[in-house]
Amino acid sequence: MSDELASPVAVDMLIQNGVVVKMDENREILHDAGLAINDGTIVDVAPTAALTERYTATRNLDARGKVVMPGLIDTHHHFLQAFLKGSRDDLPFDQWIERVSSPPIAMAISDYLAGDTRLQCYATSLSCAEALRSGITCALNMEWATPPEVIDVYEEMGLRAVHALYMSDVDRWDEPGMLLPIDVTLELAEELIARCAASPSGRVSFRYGPACENSVSQDLLRETRQLADHHGVGIHIHLAESRLSWDNIYARFGTTPVRYLRDVGLLGPDVLAAHCIWLSKDDIDILADTGTSVSYNPECNMKVALGIAPVVRLLEAGVSVSLGIDSSAVNDNMDLFEAARVGALLQKIETMVPSVVPAAQALEMATIGGARALGMETEIGSLEPGKRADVILVDVTGVHMRPTNDIVNNLIYCASAPGDVSHVIVDGEMLVEHDRLCRVDETQLLAQAEAFLDDRMSAVGSGPSPLYSEAGC
Ligand SMILES: [Zn+2]
Repeated sequence: MSDELASPVAVDMLIQNGVVVKMDENREILHDAGLAINDGTIVDVAPTAALTERYTATRNLDARGKVVMPGLIDTHHHFLQAFLKGSRDDLPFDQWIERVSSPPIAMAISDYLAGDTRLQCYATSLSCAEALRSGITCALNMEWATPPEVIDVYEEMGLRAVHALYMSDVDRWDEPGMLLPIDVTLELAEELIARCAASPSGRVSFRYGPACENSVSQDLLRETRQLADHHGVGIHIHLAESRLSWDNIYARFGTTPVRYLRDVGLLGPDVLAAHCIWLSKDDIDILADTGTSVSYNPECNMKVALGIAPVVRLLEAGVSVSLGIDSSAVNDNMDLFEAARVGALLQKIETMVPSVVPAAQALEMATIGGARALGMETEIGSLEPGKRADVILVDVTGVHMRPTNDIVNNLIYCASAPGDVSHVIVDGEMLVEHDRLCRVDETQLLAQAEAFLDDRMSAVGSGPSPLYSEAGC
């Protein structure tokens, strides 16, 4: 049959009239173009005229004045810290751990042991809501003592999630309340693996999360590698994050954190390591040789004054580098455009070479680079036929986005989230439409979560937050 006589194919959704930034291998950008989506999958990426000739859709989405691009991928986050937004910006790392991050972790662990799921579930709901509104369609959430009900929250909210369960059996930071007994942790991991494997949407997967090189014993690191191999799941770990941790490993083993993890057999293509700031040239080669991926978290690294990751050298060595937000306690927003911009600028000033990490490379880290780091590059990260339809629309009509001299440069250097992200689609399902969450009432969710937090804080004698304890706020 000739093309002229072929009748249009019925699909679920047609996105039309936009500027499509595909992030495919050729980095193709199509003007006056869009996507055909069916059954959660991208079936075509083409100019609007060709799409309307080839397809009829149940739903048509006009993307005039908008960039159509892959959903942003956040490869390192701690959703529990959603409650710590705006908390502190003045503490050294060891004191930050003691005074900011540890109390809610201890609370989460005691709640888990008491069978109370609300703290984790509210934090996860809030974080999923903010991530989606910010154009993040996939996030890795590394968290302590998460009850299996947290997996249900991802499902309810619709976010694609990689859930990493923190594991620690060494009280390196002298915070005994932060340790969930390791037998309980490993049992919980089995439960979470089964729950994720049975995820009705298929959007949730699991990784083991040994906390860092410093707070996990060698035996547990080796066991983690065996368990990950056995279950066919990945590993996520904080690595060479602080000078403090580097010194500790060097004092104990006379080697660097990266070499130490390589020597115990943990590193590999299924490992995503967050931060990787304190690296030698040899360490960078080890990461490249083992296929270990890196999550670069520039804003967190700056706020807690941890150092600057050698991203240019990592990229030159062929390491997959992605972008992470880290958490509301050390970054505060979920703006991956900002993280990409700040991350690029930080590398330019670190190297004193303005050509390093150009906007295209920064955008790559936030999209296909994230997919690669999570081992999901055949499923998400670019707009290509056969991939899951994780798509965002970014409004480029605002005065801060104009004139558009180069669409990729404008995205990295002018755009921000959630403000410019108007629509968010995961697996072909619209989850944010015209700046509003489709599945949940954002105002109601905030009110419930903050009321819970007030009660929970009062219960431990901290009192409610002065901001939202006032009537009407
Ligand atoms: Zn972290």
